Amino acid sequence: MDSLALKMLFALRPVPLWWRDDDAARDTPELRRLLELSARLKIPLLLAVIPDAMDESLPPLVRRYPLVRVAQHGVAHTNHAPASRKKQELVSGFDAEQLRRGKQRLEAAFPEQFRPILVPPWNRIDAGIIDALPGLGYAALSAGGGEVRFEPLLTIDGHVDPVAWGTGTAALPHPFRGQWRTTAMLLRAYRRGFNPIGFLTHHLGMDEAAWRYSERVLMRLRRHFVDPDALFACAPVPDLLAEQTAKKSGIL
Ligand SMILES: [Zn+2]
Repeated sequence: MDSLALKMLFALRPVPLWWRDDDAARDTPELRRLLELSARLKIPLLLAVIPDAMDESLPPLVRRYPLVRVAQHGVAHTNHAPASRKKQELVSGFDAEQLRRGKQRLEAAFPEQFRPILVPPWNRIDAGIIDALPGLGYAALSAGGGEVRFEPLLTIDGHVDPVAWGTGTAALPHPFRGQWRTTAMLLRAYRRGFNPIGFLTHHLGMDEAAWRYSERVLMRLRRHFVDPDALFACAPVPDLLAEQTAKKSGIL
């Protein structure tokens, strides 16, 4: 299925999409390409910035793009998992003070654009840290692959990722996942009823084919993309919460 067929499918049964990009740290040609794309298509973007890797070139560039909202991408994007496990920075026992300091750094650098949303590196985070997030001042979380959750805090994930990770090399960019496999991810999210569906890019990790695919999909489906502010600012409405609680307790 190509991007035009996707457009027809979304015209038949519209589902909201949203856009997140990870691993921003400094002004690079790839980041400029990303920001220009968002501005040209008028699609708001949640940009996940790594506070400890950020240099002084990033804030002035990002400030020129008012459709960009900034989230916190962990602290230093450092792996603390044992070698036998998948990469994870926010493991059990991670120092919450470091998270808080990273958040303060981003708040100071992006006073207009920072949103108190945590995007855990590699989309992995220990459950105990999630429980602590509201107390640390976070309003929401965004990881990968799941449905919207409201407890212990609002969580809205990404689902479609055009990069083929785990190809055994650390060199960037990584190869494109391929048109059919990436579209299959999108269709799976659509069929499973994910609402909204998160389109996840990595400006540093994408090769030319992944860029072209992302540009086509974003352009064709642009009127379905919603502002992350509209998604993340919406507090859970009492009725939904009550319904969830009732479901958990077996009433519904
Ligand atoms: Zn990352």
